[in-house]
Amino acid sequence: MKNHKRREFLKTTVFGSGLVLGSCSFTSNIKHSKKEDLPMVISTWNNARANAAAWEILSRGGTALDAVEAGARFVEADPDDQSVGYGGRPDRDGHVTLDACIMDHLGNAGSVSFLQGIKHPISVARKVMEKTPHVMLVGEGAQQFALSEGFRLENLLTENSKKEWTEWKKTSDYKPIINIESHDTIGMVAIDKKGDIAGACTTSGLAYKMHGRVGDSPIIGAGLFVDNEVGGAAATGMGEAVLKSLGSFLVVELMRQGMSPQEACKEAVMRIIRKQEYQNIQVGYLAVDKQGQCGAFSIQPGFVYASKGTGGNELVDVLSYVK
Ligand code: ASP
Repeated sequence: MKNHKRREFLKTTVFGSGLVLGSCSFTSNIKHSKKEDLPMVISTWNNARANAAAWEILSRGGTALDAVEAGARFVEADPDDQSVGYGGRPDRDGHVTLDACIMDHLGNAGSVSFLQGIKHPISVARKVMEKTPHVMLVGEGAQQFALSEGFRLENLLTENSKKEWTEWKKTSDYKPIINIESHDTIGMVAIDKKGDIAGACTTSGLAYKMHGRVGDSPIIGAGLFVDNEVGGAAATGMGEAVLKSLGSFLVVELMRQGMSPQEACKEAVMRIIRKQEYQNIQVGYLAVDKQGQCGAFSIQPGFVYASKGTGGNELVDVLSYVK
């Protein structure tokens, strides 16, 4: 997340308790633990404007599924967000390849990956969920399906992203910078007025990745998982580390076994710490339980999430393993 964007949000936070450490809350750590506080929406990074798009639907009594799709679409359409959708940074060969997935409260799931030329992969993922007998379509097949559903082919490589890629090619030095260069993926979970939970995750993946690389974001259980009896979770950061531990499913399952969202996110991060090289990577988990209580944890400092509920907006600074 670009720091200036984050600062801007902090300045304009309406319900003014500023930054909260640890779990999601407007006035206390468990503000969302009561049902009356629903609906609500949370998303990775400083995606307050995406939350606002989701909130428009939630506040009118709309479904969590419609809300997370709208939130994800907002970021996908934004050329200034270079980690998602239109304007996303390309792979090392200059192709913008997109990954997204969506889950509803019934446990239905849809996903697309390695999708090119379609601005709203999240909506294609939803169509996969609703109109096919499958969960996941990739590459050319996903694109063909999108076209058959009326989506248009577009050039998603903006001048800005192209310029940066051309610069990068001079050295072709592949070193994702923690928190900034490659991690702005939006993972969003919403609970609607009825108490139903849905989630969405959408990304252009790691900047300058190998052509064909797919990360955690479109993989159900890795980048996102929702279980309407328990809660939902989303991941951001180095997708390879999340894939190896199936992080979002793990977080939700740990909540099912009795952990709070905060404890579950921390334990999922600790699984990576114990088994993988974590020193130079970032992974952040964000979760909400059925009651609307939130939690998050990351490997490195710098991960934030945005929440919106009946009490207003909040940008939450997340606790991390590395201090
Ligand atoms: N998780 C994404 C990926 O590995 C990257 C991100 O979070 O920005 O593709």
